[in-house]
Amino acid sequence: MPVEAVNLSGLSRRAFLRLGAAASALAAVPILTEARLAHAQRHKFTHDAPPPDAVRIDANENPLGPCSGACAIISSLVPQGGRYRDDLTGQFVDTFCALEGLKSDYVLPYAGSSEPLHYTVLAFTSKDKPYVTADPGYEAGMYAATANGARIVKVPLTATYAHDAKAMAAADPNAGVIYVCNPNNPTGTTTPKADIDYLVANKPKGAILLIDEAYIHFSDATPSLDLVKSDKDVIVLRTFSKVYGMAGVRCGVAIGRPDLLQKIRYFGMNAMPIMAVAAATVSLQDKDIVPQRRKINTDIRNETFEWLTANNFSFIPSETNCFMLQTNRPGREVMAAMAKHNVYIGRVWPIMPTYVRITVGTRSDMQKFQAAFKQVMNSSTAGLEPPELPAHLRGTPFTHFS
Ligand code: PLP
Repeated sequence: MPVEAVNLSGLSRRAFLRLGAAASALAAVPILTEARLAHAQRHKFTHDAPPPDAVRIDANENPLGPCSGACAIISSLVPQGGRYRDDLTGQFVDTFCALEGLKSDYVLPYAGSSEPLHYTVLAFTSKDKPYVTADPGYEAGMYAATANGARIVKVPLTATYAHDAKAMAAADPNAGVIYVCNPNNPTGTTTPKADIDYLVANKPKGAILLIDEAYIHFSDATPSLDLVKSDKDVIVLRTFSKVYGMAGVRCGVAIGRPDLLQKIRYFGMNAMPIMAVAAATVSLQDKDIVPQRRKINTDIRNETFEWLTANNFSFIPSETNCFMLQTNRPGREVMAAMAKHNVYIGRVWPIMPTYVRITVGTRSDMQKFQAAFKQVMNSSTAGLEPPELPAHLRGTPFTHFS
């Protein structure tokens, strides 16, 4: 696929003005990633970066990193780092489309899926078009909606921790974006495809369904690409940051009808990093990566669940590389106490203040986690509730939803 640049000379005056408006919105909206959100909560109890030997199970990263084929191609491309090599982006998109049965104009590549997540929210919400999301849910879109002046409607997950499709469809007749994270971050739970189909069929006419499949490869959740192929008002996001272990390498895609993708393109289309697209292509071509890594993650997660159950701790059963763990005390105290044991765990959501999110790390990470968690839960953590944010962090994006 030839990689199309935005053709400025071919832009109509209206399109050019929209581009200008989009550019100024973009300037005001930093792209929030899981790592930045984890960093923000960590900042509440320490300003020190975790030491190099720390257990880092706070940001849903994959400790396995890129697969061996991806590492090899990254190394081999270093000497060509002086070239844009747009052909490699074309090969990546072609490979993804061939595997998923998509036409090439239905896929836009980005350096991770955070950018298209923010841009979709910026493009389809407004002061009069709210953003509908699950609670607890991944917060990046909420931040983009707030920056866009859009109202946020939070719909609690159901008793089985699925998205409440009926409530989300009915949440606001003027909804601009309905965000479904399947499987969900932070709970790692899935939403039945029938419920997603219901949402598409029953959503307000002008709304876009934004389906974030960042964690889909870890789970049995049914992907929603069929809705894109049948030209529904749906944008699906995929990232190489999770099962493929490329969070630092940065590659992702937005998948949708070309007219929908056109609206998010205005917010920015940069040249892709050549190592990222080449590594993503190799990762897609290796048919063993997903099943192997899924098994590793499932085995370690199940071992952790067995240990938690045997020790009478309760948690929400998850299908991904993260889960919510009940601490029966302010979760932030537990985060701070665990950091003192050199184990950095993830975040707390306002709707579940006594739960902490744990990322599934390596087997050794989880053994260290277990030892530290037992000690922390056997001692008092009172007084470790993080103090008021330091003045220079107050009022930053991070304070809105954490
Ligand atoms: N969506 C969800 C639900 C996530 O948890 C993340 C990252 O953790 C992303 C999207 C975006 O990740 P990236 O920008 O690294 O592709």
